[in-house]
Amino acid sequence: MRRLLRVPLPALLITDTSGLLLDANDTFLRLAGVAREELEAGRVRWDALAAPETPSAGAQAVDALRRLGTAGPLETEYIRADGTRVPVLLAALALEAPERTLVLVQDLTPRRRAEEALRFLSDASRELAEVRAEPDAILAGVAHLAASSVATWCLVDVLEEDGTFRRVAAAHREPDREPLLHEAPRYPSIHEAGSVLFQALARGESRLYPDFLPEHAQQMTRTPEQLALLKRLGARSVMLIPMRSRGRAVGLFTFASCDAGRRYGPEDLEMVEELARRVVAAVDNARFYRQAQDAVHLRDEFLGIASHELKTPLTPLRLKLQSLQRQVSESMLNGTPLPADRFFDSLDVALRQVRKLTDLVDNLLDVSRISAGRLRLELEEVDLSSVAAELLSRFAPSAEKLGCVLELHAPEPVFGRWDRLRVEQVVTNLLSNALKYGAGRPVVVHVEEDGERARLTVKDHGIGIAEEDLGRIFERFERAVSDRHYGGLGLGLYITRQIVEAFGGAVRVTSQAGKGSTFTLELPRGQLPVPAVG
Ligand code: ADP
Repeated sequence: MRRLLRVPLPALLITDTSGLLLDANDTFLRLAGVAREELEAGRVRWDALAAPETPSAGAQAVDALRRLGTAGPLETEYIRADGTRVPVLLAALALEAPERTLVLVQDLTPRRRAEEALRFLSDASRELAEVRAEPDAILAGVAHLAASSVATWCLVDVLEEDGTFRRVAAAHREPDREPLLHEAPRYPSIHEAGSVLFQALARGESRLYPDFLPEHAQQMTRTPEQLALLKRLGARSVMLIPMRSRGRAVGLFTFASCDAGRRYGPEDLEMVEELARRVVAAVDNARFYRQAQDAVHLRDEFLGIASHELKTPLTPLRLKLQSLQRQVSESMLNGTPLPADRFFDSLDVALRQVRKLTDLVDNLLDVSRISAGRLRLELEEVDLSSVAAELLSRFAPSAEKLGCVLELHAPEPVFGRWDRLRVEQVVTNLLSNALKYGAGRPVVVHVEEDGERARLTVKDHGIGIAEEDLGRIFERFERAVSDRHYGGLGLGLYITRQIVEAFGGAVRVTSQAGKGSTFTLELPRGQLPVPAVG
């Protein structure tokens, strides 16, 4: 019998009916927190170890053991020598030796932990299924859930593109300690010297500190004040778990337990790693959902503007065609000749509207070509100065109508290898914007060579652009004017930038609201044939 009690597992003890612990194996002594010397001194009553307020099952167990010597299995709790509690399952067996009972004690902690972890994971998954939530709200929800079950406190930090951590959630089981948690040290950027721990986390490596020691706290902080703050948070066991998306760390979970009886182990780490995977999937879903919503909204808005823009030339076109039809039928009826000059003017207006429609449709086609990566360039030798001169003369009639003086400074030819039609398109976009948004004021165009690059600037003195809009006007459908005052699809500058970048060049703007704008186009001149000497 004594040999049996030396076998490491499970926890076994022998008691007499009075509750005195006669012998026990090491597993039990460890579980109960009792030293063998105390046992051997005959001082330990095993039933005294049962929690005083144990559910009746515990009391029944003790009673049953006293009276019958056989009972169980029954669930109860032990108070260990250090005061911490252990959930246990008891089974007792009366031995043949008189008044001796063998008690088997199974530590239920791992099972309870697994149940708690599963419950937490399934509660968190329910929270994560809320696809309409904002990503930060999802993360805050998970942090609060963690702090009410597997952690005493929990932090969630998002790893930004620039390597810094942004704290999006901090939750504490005791709400009055939450302000302290909000002061908890911000984690350093992964680019900071000495950030070895955070670099490892950013590579996707988790960290488990079953016993969170001062040196671990030191690795997580930068200054003595931060260290003191972290100590005040009283973590005894800590896990740091990165969230990874498409092979890259995107954030970090910090789980801390301040409870001596809750020491994190590899199963906990595995559980939070699983949680991190689910959180990333949920956050990605929420983000895609929002992007899809935004895209649908943008598309609807665009369809509204596009229909309006396409309709604008259609009305005068229809009126002109109707008037032409009337003139033709009158001349046929009366046998009179067609009034050639009026007829010509109407045709001219009609053709102008057709050109506008064609331009709009071409822009739309360009956008879909660009989105599909099908913008093809036919490179040839082009003189940017003569392109500018030609376009300025093409724009002269409309500039005159709008009261704009067009000025060109292009003293020399500036050759480069470009797609002629695309270069014309880009310059046309800039010129038509300058006339549209700078009506009534002069527009000045400069063309010059700057070594390997060619530069063209279009300067107007019109409404200008507010500083906060400068960054977005080159984006698709972005406009910085109201639809009521100026028509347009918000595509010209987007297409311009896409074409210019396809040439390896750049387009920039400097402007101030009310003070006019200057758009600068820079194009690499490319490999030109060496001119023949002589
Ligand atoms: P659209 O002119 O059709 O709106 P663009 O892509 O050509 O589209 O221009 C985007 C926006 O940039 C315009 O809506 C306008 O707010 C602003 N913008 C472009 N050119 C100028 C300019 N020369 N002066 C002032 N604002 C301009």
